[in-house]
Amino acid sequence: MLNFVFLGPPGSGKGTQSAKLIEDFGFVHLSTGDIFRAELKSGSSLGLEAKRYLDSGMLVPDDVVVRMIEQKLDASPANAGFIFDGFPRTQVQAEALDRLLEFKGMPLQFVLLLEVPDAILRDRLAERSKTSGRSDDADSDIIEKRIRVYQNETLPLTDFYSQQGKLSRVPGVGHIDEIYARIRLALHI
Ligand code: ADP
Repeated sequence: MLNFVFLGPPGSGKGTQSAKLIEDFGFVHLSTGDIFRAELKSGSSLGLEAKRYLDSGMLVPDDVVVRMIEQKLDASPANAGFIFDGFPRTQVQAEALDRLLEFKGMPLQFVLLLEVPDAILRDRLAERSKTSGRSDDADSDIIEKRIRVYQNETLPLTDFYSQQGKLSRVPGVGHIDEIYARIRLALHI
């Protein structure tokens, strides 16, 4: 069993690479963004609560996100392990995840940081907006906000995880398969 976190800015390719890993290795994918969008679509109270944050590019409050992840962890068979994608995004979330996984006796092994320059992120998100149907990809102010929130709130987690000896930096520019090979190398699979 292998549990790891995908860190990286919006548009860095976490979802694309997760899909390949799931196909090849059967990981359970816990993507908080995907979960919130699904909740929103189904009209649940959690979805409605998250909507204004998603629409503005702000972070959903930590307690809401942590509770949701806890429920998903309890509900999912562990199997091959978990990919945490888009979570944790803050120090509070990172500490909560460590506690949850420690309690379950299945600690994080790796944290992969997909590194992509901002200019490329902006291009990718603009391109994705043509097909994703995501309003947060279609508005350049919201994209800038998400990149800023990432830099201020999430990027500092690299220190937290590198102190734990878990961080690997993976260049996220190049062909999808080339990046995938780097990721497999970092995960030793
Ligand atoms: P991105 O492509 O920007 O990485 P995601 O699909 O991961 O987008 O997330 C979309 C939105 O969902 C975020 O802008 C935020 O509002 C909310 N969100 C997702 N994950 C979290 C989290 N761990 N903590 C707080 N908010 C989150």
